[in-house]
Amino acid sequence: MKLDILGLSFDHVTMEEAISIAREKLQKREVFYCATPNAEIGYKAIKDETFRNLLNGAGLLLPDGAGVVMASKILGTPLKEKVAGVDFATNLLSVMAEEGYKLYLLGGKPGVAELAAEKMLQKHPNLTICGMADGYFQDETAVVENIKESGADVLFVCLGAPKQELFMEKHLHHTGATMLIGLGGTLDAFAGTVKRAPKWMIRCNLEWFYRLLKEPKRLGRMMCLPKYILAALAKKIRR
Ligand code: UDP
Repeated sequence: MKLDILGLSFDHVTMEEAISIAREKLQKREVFYCATPNAEIGYKAIKDETFRNLLNGAGLLLPDGAGVVMASKILGTPLKEKVAGVDFATNLLSVMAEEGYKLYLLGGKPGVAELAAEKMLQKHPNLTICGMADGYFQDETAVVENIKESGADVLFVCLGAPKQELFMEKHLHHTGATMLIGLGGTLDAFAGTVKRAPKWMIRCNLEWFYRLLKEPKRLGRMMCLPKYILAALAKKIRR
């Protein structure tokens, strides 16, 4: 079931349900892309119809941030829970290792995917990482060809928004992968080049505050969060 939150059709699922949907689609070889918008991306999507359509074209649209869940509650259509991209990706690694699906890592600065792969393999020695490329390529066709040749089943696309969504939609049927998933800065998190907030901060929905302290230049981007919440309040009042 989908729930419309400020123009985006989110899947109304728990983390566990999201994983079992992905597992099923992979088994059936149903080609799809998955996107994980947070409030900042959700705000961009309100303003930009093309971007909104790209996100709504996803076979699985997951609420990455506490802001999206908060907006869904304000609108009276509460989503089940936050399904953060990085946590979803972490759980997917177990599925891939168990079922023998091959993973390709695309994105991040040169060297980041290699480091992320190393960390992933430490945790999941059975995982097959069949290829990787950094996100600052010149020749997109060559990258797509390389993914295809690798025989990847799952492709992590970590190019930031909207670049990753544009890439996934454009190449959905060109890479040979069954599942393409847009994950922003997730490879940095796996590699450890960008640290995640302490667990207590994640539990208290304060991960955004941690990132702001670490990278104050994100303030402009983060101002989208209150604007997004205000948009939800305005919509509720108009009703
Ligand atoms: N990136 C990339 N190619 C580009 C632009 C960005 O690979 O042309 C990567 C960048 O190195 C970073 C990620 O995309 O790892 C975007 O991270 P950001 O923090 O913006 O994404 P978020 O997690 O906030 O969605």
